[in-house]
Amino acid sequence: MRVVVKKFGGTSVGDISRIREAAKLVVRYRAQHPEERLVVVVSAMAGETNRLLALARSCSSNATARELDMIAATGEQVTIALMAMALTDLGAKAESLTGAQAGVITTEQFMGAQVERIDTARLESLLAEDIIPVVAGFQGLSESREITTLGRGGSDISAVALAAALEAAACYIYTDVEGVFSADPRICPDARLLRRISHEEMLELATLGAKVLHPRSVLFAMRYRVPLVTLSTFRSGPGTWIVNEGEIMEAPVVSGITHRSDEARITLSKVPGGLPDGLQRLGKVFADIGKAGIPVDMLTQNRGADGLLDLSFTVPDEHSSHCLELCQALVPEIGAEGAGIDRNIAKVSVVGVGIHAHADVASKIFKALASERIEVLMLSTSEIKISVVIPRKYAELAVRCLHDALVLAQLASGSSPQAEARAAVSH
Ligand code: ASP
Ligand code: MG
Repeated sequence: MRVVVKKFGGTSVGDISRIREAAKLVVRYRAQHPEERLVVVVSAMAGETNRLLALARSCSSNATARELDMIAATGEQVTIALMAMALTDLGAKAESLTGAQAGVITTEQFMGAQVERIDTARLESLLAEDIIPVVAGFQGLSESREITTLGRGGSDISAVALAAALEAAACYIYTDVEGVFSADPRICPDARLLRRISHEEMLELATLGAKVLHPRSVLFAMRYRVPLVTLSTFRSGPGTWIVNEGEIMEAPVVSGITHRSDEARITLSKVPGGLPDGLQRLGKVFADIGKAGIPVDMLTQNRGADGLLDLSFTVPDEHSSHCLELCQALVPEIGAEGAGIDRNIAKVSVVGVGIHAHADVASKIFKALASERIEVLMLSTSEIKISVVIPRKYAELAVRCLHDALVLAQLASGSSPQAEARAAVSH
């Protein structure tokens, strides 16, 4: 039995006419693939989860995570029933299932539960009868029978987890964009639809701002080798397949450029950093920051001619004031001159599996930014990405110029047949 999971996001089920359209898409697919068995997963109608959580907050500012999950989980319960009705109206056999009914067992971490396993018995008996199970995304049941949610955006995770448990041939994630682009098309009109990218690249793109797929769903797909594709409900097109790196025969050096503008840079200036005391003091700084639950992202240090260190690192905006206070309090203890903050920064990242093998990417980045007179404040690299921190006001310009210099130039030079094929399809 070849099983395929199709998940529809909030905008794809945003009102009754859209639910009917999504149902038509499912029925059409079924007619074209009569040998396959379908599982449909849905999110709540667009805006509904926000509305429910706002309703909860308007009632109480002390609501427990358990009660918040109880209310948030109802959003999906509405759409499963509507979708099942719409499918039935079109002549298909369909039955709605909550996460619990579908056998989705999670940890009891409310508002951020992890899927532990899926008891597929009920799903399988429906599939055997050729009934389409319409499963509520985002929610599950703990071992002690508490209703949980997987955290915001979690219905992608539900879909991939169900696909993994059913050993599905593919998991389709339908959304309001056509797939993953080489840059945000709203900023960069030349952005190309990517036909295939690796899980690793997708994770970078997902965590760095391209909000197409929940990062945890990508991890799941990678671990359980679920073929995953993201595509538009509203426009037909090939979408973007997220595949194992080894399946991309001729990967382009750079796949995409992303940016985010929700981090601040904290600097501790003139820290005595000698061995061993200095380093121990720095260890203390990061221990305190870690204890406060503040995630540190990029980190650089410069040693001045006087031997003192300037230490800079980035933290998410929402933690930046707290982090600055912590650092200011530590200044006397570590003997630094002061602690400061720069909120006007952005991080722009160049992502591609070919980066580690091509030493010239960094030089192209510097050249491109220099030609627009954009200053680089920090830099970090990994196997598959190079990130730069720049003044926030240049973020969009930087995305465009790096896209020109790295993605478009690579297409023009024909260095990647794969990329050319992608470009051809996106027109
Ligand atoms: N409805 C949930 C949310 O808005 C889950 C999802 O849409 O993926 O976060
Ligand atoms: Mg989503």
